Amino acid sequence: MDYFKVTKRCIRCLKPLRENGTCQNPKCVRYKPDPEPEKKQEEKTNDGAK
Ligand SMILES: [Zn+2]
Repeated sequence: MDYFKVTKRCIRCLKPLRENGTCQNPKCVRYKPDPEPEKKQEEKTNDGAK
C-alpha cells in the first residue's frame, strides 16, 4: 500500500521537520540550531530571561 508522503512534523509545534528530523521553528521548545550553519549568525538579542 502506498500512502502519500508523510511529512514528519514536530510533536510540539507541528511544523515540518528538517530532513534530519530536527525542528526548525526557533520558537519551539524542540528547536535545534542548524548543525551545519553556512552563515554565521550572531544573536545579540539576549534578554537574559533565563
Ligand atoms: Zn517544533
